[in-house]
Amino acid sequence: MSGPDELIAAAKKARNNAYAPYSKFEVGCAVQLHDGRIASGTNVENSSYGLTVCSERHAIAAAVLMGAKPGDVTRVAIAGDSPVSVPPCGACRQVLSEFSSEQTQILIYNYRDDSVVSFTMGELLPEAFSPKNLTAS
Ligand SMILES: [Zn+2]
Repeated sequence: MSGPDELIAAAKKARNNAYAPYSKFEVGCAVQLHDGRIASGTNVENSSYGLTVCSERHAIAAAVLMGAKPGDVTRVAIAGDSPVSVPPCGACRQVLSEFSSEQTQILIYNYRDDSVVSFTMGELLPEAFSPKNLTAS
C-alpha cells in the first residue's frame, strides 16, 4: 500500500509533464485506488482554451482506464505552485467525487512553501450529486 508521501511524489512527477503553454499554471494530480495502485494526470491546455483539461480529471480518466469504479479512490494528491494552495476546481470536485467517498483524503501540495493541506472529499463537495441521485424510486 502506498502512503501519502508516495502519492504526493506521483503528483509532482505528473506536473513535470504539464502542457500549460498559455497559463504557465502547471498542476499534477495522482489518485490512489483502494488496492494501492496510483493513476496520475496533468493539466493539458489547448489553444482554444475552453478545451483545457485539469490534472484531476485527467487522473480520474487514467484511473478508469485501470478499471476504477465509483468509490475506488481513497486518496488524492494535487501539486501546484501558487501564493495559496490550489484546491480542485468545481468541475474536478464533481468528477473526483464520482469515484471517491466522503472520507477520501485530498492532499494539496504547494511548491511555493513546501506545504501540504488536507481535506476530505465531503469537505470540498458537501451534498454532492452522485449516482444515487439517478436511482429510480
Ligand atoms: Zn479542475
